[in-house]
Amino acid sequence: MFDRPPLPRWSDGPVTLLGDACHPMLPYGAQGAAQAIEDAAVLTTCLAEACGRNLPRTLSRYESLRRGRTTRVQQMSRANGHRFHLPDGPDQEARDAAMRTSFGLSPDIDWLYGHDPTVPEPAPT
Ligand SMILES: Cc1cc2nc3c(=O)[nH]c(=O)nc-3n(C[C@H](O)[C@H](O)[C@H](O)COP(=O)(O)OP(=O)(O)OC[C@H]3O[C@@H](n4cnc5c(N)ncnc54)[C@H](O)[C@@H]3O)c2cc1C
Repeated sequence: MFDRPPLPRWSDGPVTLLGDACHPMLPYGAQGAAQAIEDAAVLTTCLAEACGRNLPRTLSRYESLRRGRTTRVQQMSRANGHRFHLPDGPDQEARDAAMRTSFGLSPDIDWLYGHDPTVPEPAPT
C-alpha cells in the first residue's frame, strides 16, 4: 500500500484534481472515498457559485477549502497505520486503554465525522 506526502497544490489553470489523484491515503482511517466525495461536494458548490466566471480562481478557492482537511486525514491515516500495528508491550497497552475510553462520538473524533466541508479549515502546521 502506498500514500504520498500532501501536495502543495492541486490545480493548474482550468484543471484540477480530486480524490486519490491528489490525496491518496493509507486505509487506516477508511476515508479515501469519503474525502473524494467531500471534494466533489465542495467543487460542485464552488463551480455553481462562480457561474462559469474565472475558472482558475474558482479552482483555487476549492483547493483552499479542501487541502487543509485532506492533509489532516492523510496524516491521521498514516499515524493510525503505526498505532494499529504496535507490537505487544507498554505502548500497545496504552493505546488500547486510550481507545477504550475515547472511541465513539468523542471530541477526538468529532473533527472527522462532524465536519461541514463548506467551512474552511487552516492547513496543519
Ligand atoms: C480494499 C479497499 C477498501 C477501501 N475501503 C474504504 C472505506 O471503507 N472507506 C473509504 O472512504 N474509502 C475506502 N477505500 C478507498 C476508496 O476506494 C478510494 O479512496 C476511492 O475509490 C478514490 O476515489 P477516486 O474517484 O479518487 O479514484 P478511483 O476510485 O480510483 O477512480 C478513478 C477512476 O479513473 C479511472 N481511470 C484511471 N485512468 C484513467 C484514464 N486514463 N482514462 C479514463 N479513466 C481512467 C479508473 O479506472 C477509476 O475508475 C478503500 C479502497 C480499497 C482498495
